[in-house]
Amino acid sequence: MKLPPFEYVCPTSISEAVALLASHDGEAKPLAGGQSLVPMMAFRVASPSLLVDLRKLAELRQIRITQEGVALGAMVRWRDILEDERLKTAHPLLVAAVEHVAHYQIRNRGTVGGSIAHADPAAEMPGIVVTCEAQIAVMGKAGGRTIAACDFFVGPLMTELKPDEIITEIRLPLWPAKRRFGFQEFARRRGDFAMAAAAVFYDDDNGKARNAHVGVIGVADHPLRLPSVEAVINDQKIDDALIAKAEATTSAAVDPADDIHASGAYRKALVGVMVERALKAAAA
Ligand SMILES: Cc1cc2nc3c(=O)[nH]c(=O)nc-3n(C[C@H](O)[C@H](O)[C@H](O)COP(=O)(O)OP(=O)(O)OC[C@H]3O[C@@H](n4cnc5c(N)ncnc54)[C@H](O)[C@@H]3O)c2cc1C
Repeated sequence: MKLPPFEYVCPTSISEAVALLASHDGEAKPLAGGQSLVPMMAFRVASPSLLVDLRKLAELRQIRITQEGVALGAMVRWRDILEDERLKTAHPLLVAAVEHVAHYQIRNRGTVGGSIAHADPAAEMPGIVVTCEAQIAVMGKAGGRTIAACDFFVGPLMTELKPDEIITEIRLPLWPAKRRFGFQEFARRRGDFAMAAAAVFYDDDNGKARNAHVGVIGVADHPLRLPSVEAVINDQKIDDALIAKAEATTSAAVDPADDIHASGAYRKALVGVMVERALKAAAA
């Protein structure tokens, strides 16, 4: 389908990009890899009058690994993550999740910033940033600010971003070397969006789990962390009985709606199984 008409600009600085967005009163949109925005325009779900292409902003393409954690520039692509050997130890949960994102061609262009801004409830990256308590750095006409990932997503395809703001960086807290984790996803075909997925991690303290984090994807209008499941896991030894309890608590904690892909009841059961498998992988 043909796209609706639009103007196109390709600024060379973040301040220029922000000024262009601000001067168009909500009618302009940043363009990252176009992997969600262009289909949205083709389907007339979005009709921006101006696309502000971020591809010349080299500072948004960096992956920084510091004492504080991993900072991903907004224009870092899925492919960049999968090809960065450092991330396999600096943030293995991130790498495990990104392995499930889309297909080769899309991973060549799609970006972390675009995914977070697009806020698809079944996308992996929003689930990872919520589970890992990431901070989202943004820049707008009023200056820079950071937004906690747990406050960022407000609904399907809806975020706290203002029309003049661009995401500049996603900051994931430091990942301790011996942290245990699992990421499990069920999709009908490889590369499809998740029907349901779970990201789990905890720190092992002489056989007991501490600091458990459990996030789920595809079972609400935005990614969720499940404190009731974390409470089941914390300070416990991870054995089969504990995993079964975590699975049941997960299913009880979510209330997914029926949609064209699956009934809510199916997704409720499925996400419990995803947490079960993720915990088994973490404990193994
Ligand atoms: C067939 C297909 C299958 C897919 N499967 C999956 C999947 O399994 N899992 C998954 O997670 N994703 C999937 N995707 C989406 C893909 O991961 C995209 O990379 C992702 O949605 C973002 O696209 P993009 O980076 O190209 O952003 P764009 O499409 O360019 O932009 C998306 C939105 O984000 C805004 N935006 C972009 N960058 C910024 C920024 N820095 N600051 C503020 N706003 C910004 C844009 O204005 C737009 O609203 C799939 C896409 C396709 C076409």
